[in-house]
Amino acid sequence: MISTRFTELFGIEHPIVQGGMQNVGVAELVSAVADAGALGFLTALTQPSPEALTREIARTRGMTDRPFGVNLTILPTLKPIPYAEYAQATVESGIKIVETAGNNPQRFLPGFKAAGIKVIHKCTSVRHAVKAETIGCDAISIDGFECAGHPGEDDIPGLVLIPCAADRVGIPLIASGGFGDARGLVAALALGADGMNMGTRFMATREAPIHENVKQQLVAATERDTALIFRSLRNTARVFSNAVSDEVRSIEAAGNATIDDIKHLVSGERGKQALETGDTDAGIWSAGMVAGLIHDVPTCRELVDRIMREAAAIIDARLAGMRPAPAGIR
Ligand code: NAD
Repeated sequence: MISTRFTELFGIEHPIVQGGMQNVGVAELVSAVADAGALGFLTALTQPSPEALTREIARTRGMTDRPFGVNLTILPTLKPIPYAEYAQATVESGIKIVETAGNNPQRFLPGFKAAGIKVIHKCTSVRHAVKAETIGCDAISIDGFECAGHPGEDDIPGLVLIPCAADRVGIPLIASGGFGDARGLVAALALGADGMNMGTRFMATREAPIHENVKQQLVAATERDTALIFRSLRNTARVFSNAVSDEVRSIEAAGNATIDDIKHLVSGERGKQALETGDTDAGIWSAGMVAGLIHDVPTCRELVDRIMREAAAIIDARLAGMRPAPAGIR
């Protein structure tokens, strides 16, 4: 058992979070994460409508009695998104934990707070973490440059970003980006965080609702197999390096690219096809550098149990063994 401010505040067994992942965070994965004693998030925008989100929340409740939350990511999209309606569906479903990401969540906080919802804001810079605490968020998930999806534009890796955030933020802090095993968890705690977030690692689990080919690509991948796209649009995204990301990068490198020049390549619809059909070159799909640390496809429970067991061994044996015994006890 590792008890932290985060596990206590959110009523979970282990200091491990499965953050929002577009087209991955659905009932099968989130309920398996919850049953393993970690905190899973349904990704609101993976559902085609707020009504579908309401149904997915109910479906997840039918699969687990443990706490889980809803992720609401606010970033540029090809089609307008009715964010307020997704937030309302979340509130009306009685959800008590929300992860916001991508943009300032201030406009949603009064509604969430009135409903007794605890909000974890995921962000990629210390200044945004400080701001989130100021406006009333309950916890921060700080996302280093290693992460899948959107790392922001500052390019600060976790080894620096996490302790910088821990120095400035008073509410519980979750370390995100590059985490996939017990070494990461112990490092996160040592850096001042109260737990860790894993995304890509949870994609390579039996319960993740994506094609086996994608999971095997993650197992085969090294830490060098991701690519950054959308840099020129200041909406940087880290994705699995494939034929489509190569094409997007070459269009961006030619200069003056707009979203209209690449939207036929990058649409979420194509990325969804890749994850569903196993044709991993069908579109872009998010993956983090942690792919280099993924070597198997366990169940969520096997993964979480292994991490907690190995973390205890690192703390109790490896780290404790580095301290010389006090004089007189030898
Ligand atoms: P989409 O099909 O609308 O867009 C595909 C990609 O293009 C997204 O990454 C989006 O941010 C980007 N994009 C769209 N319009 C843009 C613009 N005008 N300028 C710059 N970039 C633009 O999105 P989707 O794949 O259906 O995803 C829905 C939401 O989930 C988006 O907000 C997306 O960013 C987010 N998302 C998050 C993650 C993550 O890891 N957290 C991963 C994938 C998608």
